[in-house]
Amino acid sequence: MDLRGARVTVGIFWFRRDLRLTDNPLLRRAAEECEQLLPVYVHAPGGGAEQGEGAASRWWLHHSLVALDAELRERGSMLWRQRGRVAPVLAQVAAEIGARRVYWNRRYEPAETAHEARLLTTLSRRGLVVTTGHGGLLAAPEHGTKPDGSAYRVFSAFWRARLRAGLDLAVASAPKRLPPLPAPLPPSERLAQSERLPRVRWDDGLTVHWRPGEAGARARLAQFLDAALAGYVENRERPDREGTSRLSPHLHFGEIGPRQIAAAVEAWADAGGNRSAAEAFLRQLGWREFAHHLLYHFPETPERPLDRRFERFPWQPDPAHLRAWQRGETGIPLVDAGMRELWHTGWMHNRVRMVVASFLTKNLLIPWQEGAAWFRDTLVDADLANNVLGWQWVAGSGADAAPYFRIFNPVTQGVRFDPEGRYVTRWLPELRGLPVHYRHRPWQTPTPPAAYPPPIVDLAGSRQRALAAFARVRSAPR
Ligand code: FAD
Repeated sequence: MDLRGARVTVGIFWFRRDLRLTDNPLLRRAAEECEQLLPVYVHAPGGGAEQGEGAASRWWLHHSLVALDAELRERGSMLWRQRGRVAPVLAQVAAEIGARRVYWNRRYEPAETAHEARLLTTLSRRGLVVTTGHGGLLAAPEHGTKPDGSAYRVFSAFWRARLRAGLDLAVASAPKRLPPLPAPLPPSERLAQSERLPRVRWDDGLTVHWRPGEAGARARLAQFLDAALAGYVENRERPDREGTSRLSPHLHFGEIGPRQIAAAVEAWADAGGNRSAAEAFLRQLGWREFAHHLLYHFPETPERPLDRRFERFPWQPDPAHLRAWQRGETGIPLVDAGMRELWHTGWMHNRVRMVVASFLTKNLLIPWQEGAAWFRDTLVDADLANNVLGWQWVAGSGADAAPYFRIFNPVTQGVRFDPEGRYVTRWLPELRGLPVHYRHRPWQTPTPPAAYPPPIVDLAGSRQRALAAFARVRSAPR
């Protein structure tokens, strides 16, 4: 009750994968509509917001929430956190603080869409007014279908249509102050207790390489615009160079929005930056949009191949080979370097992701779902839509996929994109003593390094085996 006896409008803002204050129009709206506002994060293990996320993502999330809490406190608020199922947690805290409104930004993964629909019904039944927003993508994935209403399956047509419709580059600034917190508040889980940090030996590596949170995301973007965007076209395929933005985990957790990035890139180009570099980079953001579009319209694709012929593909699961791949002990330098980079930093260069995925699914004939699961557990940017798109694309079963017969040769790829072997020797110090010529094919030297394993498969023979396996499904109907 306020001093005049009128009911104060109390609201809850439920943070999800939008862990930022800038470019969060729904947060601004909530701040304008409510006289008291409680920012909330719900840890919902096994369901809801955190479903299926791995150890690296949990590490990131913990630090991102700490950063968000600090940003909120600077504006006179805080992040209230609770563990449990989302619907009862929100309903109970709403009852305790007298909230009548709940706000959240939508997510588009199949489990989240279904969960949100149920939540909306539950909270509305309890008399709460729910307002949802959008901000994780340049355009909501249900929009932008083909003129006949069906989903796009070809990226270039999808992106052309998006560009023709115009990109939404209106960025909402962060609210300077937030409404006061309701009082009294039920106790929040302490930051230290609420996130069970994974005890993993790569924890230190993550800390060295990343700065989770909105300020870290902004700094990463500024650094990219300053130092790398101009050379993006030449350098983006080079794992031996710092040629890409490394914004992917910040984007996944919503610490920065795609509108903010696209608007900054456009401004950079307008101020004399290289227009073709800007377009090439925006196109990558387009792939992210496309991935979400596909997942939204084909929600079965995290488990099942989009091209149904691959249901009958004669995969050959092999736990020993899978383990060698995961540990970076296949004896193929570019593959092993990528897998060790992933383990130490939680990230891997896109070109190398394609090579390691091709090696797993084609040279080893291990189902792509196994690779996707390992990536989900170890990537700091693990993202259902992008991960499924990437794996199905490489495996040849996805939309606009690489033709199955395109089997990346990791030696040729290494020589082309890491010509001096700097990338492989960074992650495989045991190869440093080799002349450059042998760094991508150490088995060909007269004296291969003892500390490095011989290849677990013959590249040429396994390629032929993969082509023969594909020939068996090729003639089946799609
Ligand atoms: P930049 O080149 O700077 O691109 C900017 C942004 O565009 C990225 O941050 C990302 O959000 C988006 N983007 C770039 N390339 C792609 C792409 N091919 N598909 C979709 N979005 C893209 N990306 C993830 O974010 N999460 C994943 O779980 C993931 N799994 C992948 C699995 C496989 C097998 C493959 C081949 C690719 C996967 N990718 C994934 C896509 C891509 O490798 C990463 O987005 C990229 O390497 C991130 O680095 P960056 O931010 O420096 O990219």
